[in-house]
Amino acid sequence: MSFIPCIKCQGEGRIFKSTYGGNDPDVWDAGKCEACDGSGNHTCDNRGCDEIAQGFNDDGEALCQDCLMEWTMKAFEP
Ligand SMILES: [Zn+2]
Ligand SMILES: [Zn+2]
Repeated sequence: MSFIPCIKCQGEGRIFKSTYGGNDPDVWDAGKCEACDGSGNHTCDNRGCDEIAQGFNDDGEALCQDCLMEWTMKAFEP
């Protein structure tokens, strides 16, 4: 099972800031990432779901296992 790294902190779990941005090596730890609550995992894009995302659906949304399965079932409904 694969985990998707949080897009906001690139899976670090913390936000790093720099004065100049880009490749500026002078960065500091600006605190815990709010998007993933410091876990470094991307959470499910489904509204109201805070499970860890484990895959992408065909719409490019990162969903947890349950939501992926639900989405797949809906996608194949007649
Ligand atoms: Zn994060
Ligand atoms: Zn979910």
